[in-house]
Amino acid sequence: MPECSDLIGRIQPKLRQLFMTQKRVLISASSGTGLMEGAIRNCANRKVLNCVNGAFSDRWRQITEANGKANEVLEVEWGQPILPEQVAAKLATGEFDAITVAHNETSTGVTNPIPQIAQAVRQAPNGQEIMILVDSVSSLGGARLEFDAWDLDVLLTSSQKAFALPPGLAFCAISDRAMAKAATVPNRGYYFDFLLLDKYLQKNQTPATPAISLLFALDKQLDAILAEGLENRFARHLAMRDRTLEWAKSRGFTPFATPGYESPTVTCVHNNRQIDVGALNQFLRERGMILSNGYGARLRDKTFRIAHMGDLQMADMEALFTAIDEFLETLE
Ligand SMILES: *Cc1c(COP(=O)(O)O)cnc(C)c1O
Repeated sequence: MPECSDLIGRIQPKLRQLFMTQKRVLISASSGTGLMEGAIRNCANRKVLNCVNGAFSDRWRQITEANGKANEVLEVEWGQPILPEQVAAKLATGEFDAITVAHNETSTGVTNPIPQIAQAVRQAPNGQEIMILVDSVSSLGGARLEFDAWDLDVLLTSSQKAFALPPGLAFCAISDRAMAKAATVPNRGYYFDFLLLDKYLQKNQTPATPAISLLFALDKQLDAILAEGLENRFARHLAMRDRTLEWAKSRGFTPFATPGYESPTVTCVHNNRQIDVGALNQFLRERGMILSNGYGARLRDKTFRIAHMGDLQMADMEALFTAIDEFLETLE
């Protein structure tokens, strides 16, 4: 219906502001993982370099392999960032045509230096042909990501993290280079075919049923985000991050992320006091709050994670720290 095209047409320029791009931003009725699969199916033909420093970047390795694409893995110790020189060393062979990397590794609270990594890619022997695929599911909308200026090819996110919306939508900016590449890649599939999605987007339409109710929510939230102002929003996230790190250290906990690479949207805390995270969460739940245990078997109970993203304010963080302090006092 024309009302729906109007809605998509209203949303598109606002999404472009968040992605800092003049290019298209596709909207998908899926979670972010769907577009991770889409990026692999559309943009990789020869060999993918999967940069892994946590559970979510490892998901892209799994997706690459599940789609039968050749790959190689650059894995660093979890808690460490992926560094541009490590990427450059791998790409020196000239055999890769795509690289996957998470901007914000939600399982470890590490932010990877995407602009420097992208520069290293472009300086590789076949750097202009390499598709730079970036997962910013837990950071876009809460941190600065400049799709055009950083010369990225796919930058994707979901509705339910730093956008602070219900789950069910995913978005990705796609470069002209990636669109041209997709046209040469066979077996792109149908639901996440970038060429088909782009063709419809040009008419403010989608090839399959759009999640209209969620689009209304998105339209409203984008207005709220832009009214706050992107710079203010990024600064609010950084201030909450700094306060969270300060609180954790002052209570004898060490941050899990390598200093200098701490995420602006989620802090992963090393549980070096060996508190019972389940008991802490039960205590918090009774007070209307919750935090996340460490992600997966490797980090559960060894770490816990405090989100400071989306619409959370400093006052919310202070209320959380006061409640955790009360819990810690019960242990003494
Ligand atoms: C949550 C998350 C995902 C998965 O996104 P879905 O929307 O749940 O599919 C992928 N990558 C990162 C970094 C995440 O935080």
